[in-house]
Amino acid sequence: MALLTKTKYLAGLQCSKLLWTLINDKASIPEPDESQELIFDTGTDVGVLATSLYPEGIKVSEGNFMENINQTKTLLDKNKPLFEPGFMVDDLFSRGDILVPNDNDTWDIVEVKSSTKLKEVNIHDVSFQKLVYEKAGLKIDKCYVMHIDKTYVRNGDIEPEKLFIKEDITEQVKEFEVGIKERVKDMKAVLNGKKPKIDIGNYCNNPTDCSLTDDCWDFLPKGNVFDLTRGGKRSWELYSKNIIKIKDIPNEFKLSEKQEIQRQAALTGKPHVEPANIKKFIDGLNYPLYYFDFETINPAVPIFNGMSPYQKIPFQYSLHIQETEDGELKHVSFLADHKKDPREEILKSMQENLGTEGTILAWNQSFEIGVIKELVANFPEYEEWGSQTIKRVDDLIIPFRQFNYYNSIQKGSASLKNVLPALTDLSYDNLEIGNGADASSLYHRMVIDELQPFEVEKIRTDLETYCTQDTYAEVVILKELRKLV
Ligand code: SF4
Repeated sequence: MALLTKTKYLAGLQCSKLLWTLINDKASIPEPDESQELIFDTGTDVGVLATSLYPEGIKVSEGNFMENINQTKTLLDKNKPLFEPGFMVDDLFSRGDILVPNDNDTWDIVEVKSSTKLKEVNIHDVSFQKLVYEKAGLKIDKCYVMHIDKTYVRNGDIEPEKLFIKEDITEQVKEFEVGIKERVKDMKAVLNGKKPKIDIGNYCNNPTDCSLTDDCWDFLPKGNVFDLTRGGKRSWELYSKNIIKIKDIPNEFKLSEKQEIQRQAALTGKPHVEPANIKKFIDGLNYPLYYFDFETINPAVPIFNGMSPYQKIPFQYSLHIQETEDGELKHVSFLADHKKDPREEILKSMQENLGTEGTILAWNQSFEIGVIKELVANFPEYEEWGSQTIKRVDDLIIPFRQFNYYNSIQKGSASLKNVLPALTDLSYDNLEIGNGADASSLYHRMVIDELQPFEVEKIRTDLETYCTQDTYAEVVILKELRKLV
C-alpha cells in the first residue's frame, strides 16, 4: 500500500493525475531546475533560522525515514519542541517543521514558510499534519504558520524574532478539516488504482504550476486558444466548446482588441504591423542610446545591511551604447565580485557608463526603475543621479505590449524571449543560461555555496554571455522595427 504524504495530499488537492504520477510513474516527473533547487534550499535555510526561536528544541534525525519516526516517538516524552518530527499511521505520513509542547499535555503545530504571506495551501498543509498527529494520539491545541515579514530590514545579524511573523491559523484549519477524512480515503484509492483520465484545466497552474504541463498540454496545436493574451476564462470557454485554434474562433465570438489582432494574424499567417505607431515610438528615442539590462538576486533572508526580504539586489548589467542611429556599437558590462556587497560598486559603474543624456532603453522598464529606486534608497548620496537617470528610461516593450507589432510566433506574449524569434534568427536556445531566473539562481549559488574556482569561472562566463545577449537582442529588435517603418 502506497503512503500518502503531506506533499502528495497537496498534489492530490490540485489534480488526481498528478497524485497518481507522483507514486506510480515518478520517472515522468521532471527533475527540478536550478531555480527550483534554490527555492528548496531557501526553504530549508529559513526553516533552520526559525528553529532558533525555540532554543530548547530538539532536531529529530532526518537521515533515515524509519529512524526519524522512531526517534520522534522516543523524543515526545521529553516534552520539548521537536524539529522535523515524523509520524506514520494508517498509510499516512507527515513530517512537519516544529511541534511545540504545552503544559496541558497538548501540542502546537508551527509550520515555517519562506513566503511573505499566508496561502490557502499552507492551511491545507497544516490540516493534513493535524490529522496525522491526532491519529498518532497527540492532542493538538493551536496551529500556526510562521512566514517572513517583508517589512523587516536587516541591521547587523539576522534577528529571527523580527524576521518572522507567526500567524494563528487554528480556526482556518478547523474549516479546512471538514471532509478531510473522505478526501484522504479518495486519494488512497487514486494512489492504488489505475491512472486517472484528467483533462487539462485551470488547476494545472493553480495553486502552483504543475510539473507535468509539458506532457499534459503537449497535444495542443500551435496557435491554440491558450496563446490569447489575457485569455483567462475566455480561453477556457473556447476550449470547452472544442474551439482549439485561434484561427477557428468564430467572428461573432467576442474578443478584446489585442486578441482580435491575434485572430487576424492567425487567419492571414502574416504579422500585424502599425507603422505609424512604431515610428512614433522610435521618434521619441534620443541618442546616444543606452540599451540596458540588470540581473538581480532577491534572497528571502536579507544578506546585506539595509536590505529587506526579497529585495532585488543587482549584481550584473549589460550595456550596449550607440552614439548615433548608424553609429558603432560599444559594449560595457559589470559583473560583481560575488563575495562582496555589489550595490555601491554597481551604482558607481552605472554613473560612469550611463552618461547624462540620451535614452536608456530597457525591456519592461518598471523592473529597471524599481531596482534603481531601491538602490538609491540604500545610498541616498546617489539620489539626484537616480532621479535624473530614471527620467531617461524608455521601454522597448511598448510597441509589442501595445500590439503595434504582433507575430503569431510570440504566442500572445511581449516578453523579450518571445519577441526575439519573431523578428530575428537569434535565440537563447544554445546558451548555458537561458533565462533570468537561472542567471539569478546561479549567482546566488556563488554567494551562498563554496564553489570550486573552475565552477565560479564557468558561471561568470555564462552570466556574461547571457546578459550581453539580452541587450544585444534589444539592439537587433530596434533595428528590425526601423525596417518596418
Ligand atoms: S498538467 Fe494539469 S492535468 Fe496534467 S497532471 Fe498536472 S494538473 Fe493534472
